[in-house]
Amino acid sequence: MILGGGFGGIGAAKKLSKSDVDVVLVDGHDYHTFQPLLYQVATGLLDQPAVGHPIRDLFHKQDNVRVHQDRVTGIDLEAREVRFAELEPERYDYLVLALGAEVNYFGVEGAAEHAFPLYTLADAVRLKDHVLERWEAADRKPELADDGALNMVVVGGGPTGVETAGAMAELYRGVFRSDYPDVPPEQARILLVEASPEIFAMFKPEIRLYTEHALAERGVEVLTGEVVESVSPQRVTLKSGTVLSAHTLVWGAGLQGNELVRSLGLELERGNRLAVDEELRLAQHPEVYAVGDIAAITDAKTDQVLPQLGSVALQSGEHAGETIAHRVAGKETKPFKYHDKGTMATIGRGAAVVQMLGGKTMKGKAAQAAWGTVHLALLPTNQDRAKAVVDWAGAGLTHQRSGRIRVET
Ligand SMILES: Cc1cc2nc3c(=O)[nH]c(=O)nc-3n(C[C@H](O)[C@H](O)[C@H](O)COP(=O)(O)OP(=O)(O)OC[C@H]3O[C@@H](n4cnc5c(N)ncnc54)[C@H](O)[C@@H]3O)c2cc1C
Repeated sequence: MILGGGFGGIGAAKKLSKSDVDVVLVDGHDYHTFQPLLYQVATGLLDQPAVGHPIRDLFHKQDNVRVHQDRVTGIDLEAREVRFAELEPERYDYLVLALGAEVNYFGVEGAAEHAFPLYTLADAVRLKDHVLERWEAADRKPELADDGALNMVVVGGGPTGVETAGAMAELYRGVFRSDYPDVPPEQARILLVEASPEIFAMFKPEIRLYTEHALAERGVEVLTGEVVESVSPQRVTLKSGTVLSAHTLVWGAGLQGNELVRSLGLELERGNRLAVDEELRLAQHPEVYAVGDIAAITDAKTDQVLPQLGSVALQSGEHAGETIAHRVAGKETKPFKYHDKGTMATIGRGAAVVQMLGGKTMKGKAAQAAWGTVHLALLPTNQDRAKAVVDWAGAGLTHQRSGRIRVET
């Protein structure tokens, strides 16, 4: 049984294609989400199907997989049984936990109610709709812009926050300038708030400097050493006492393991992630594998816990699938080895950064090309890759954001 149809779950199921097993894959959604491009949906650059792919579609040619859309509500490790919202409880011989993470608001007052996270496709659409609604409202009533209706605070100076702030700035300073010619640009600020003394702490100083410059060029104001204390629908209060007028706060500041892991009664690693051995199994339950964002996987090379990245999720999922196939066939299994493709992020058009394991760095267009190559490999099918190339090239050439419409449901 595989729980979760993200990079980890799909990777595991694919590697079981030639194995003599019956695979049941369950996800709460009927689609696989390509999270790295959520910010492009939120900024109207890509449409929803560009980042959401039907899960069933991925297994048309794999007879040993049954896919169900349902919510997992409980896991009984002792009884080897999973409970669901709708399906009957189901027992397993092997279990792959690939349920991902969820947003961590660190108890900030009002954040859970008023912040806009960017973790699911629904989050991205909700944020886009909210931004479009605020601009239309301020267009009708200019006094709303005086109250901060168009200001946006993005919390978190890691890849999610930087990518979102950069993309929003391009939306604001690009197409919105033509859409709303009467709005003075100084009434639409984008502020990136980071608690530590600098953004992109995981990168080398030269990359940080490049990123700060690229953000400034796009009109993003960076506030470092500032911690968000509370959030209301129209105001963001910082611990320093500063109150920012902003009707939108995007939360890109932290994740924790999926809520289900807290119900397993296991000791958890930092960020509520599951501890796994070198084969990605739970210590007391060798029939259970945990992969991707839900797991704290230690890199055998560096002895560090791997970051929550698409390539980590895909490779660990594939490893779990392969290992189960080997076990079922009575073959020897191997410990998990991560192949690092580099840490990377896109700040905007033509502005990206890459840092390789050995410390080599890339910036600008070369880095953007490297980002494209690595992320194309993460897409589930060749058809998706071809479509992404067309979408990305189209968006890059025309600068159009045809997704900036709001559809009432
Ligand atoms: C905004 C953003 C940008 C990112 N950018 C990058 C990037 O540029 N490069 C990169 O490598 N990584 C990036 N990442 C990280 C990467 O997307 C994740 O590490 C990866 O998606 C994790 O894969 P996963 O399979 O562990 O979990 P997920 O992809 O989250 O999949 C988990 C699945 O489990 C399902 N699920 C959860 N709970 C339940 C339940 N109770 N019942 C049923 N189903 C459930 C969900 O619907 C989901 O489909 C980004 C992440 C975000 C949020």
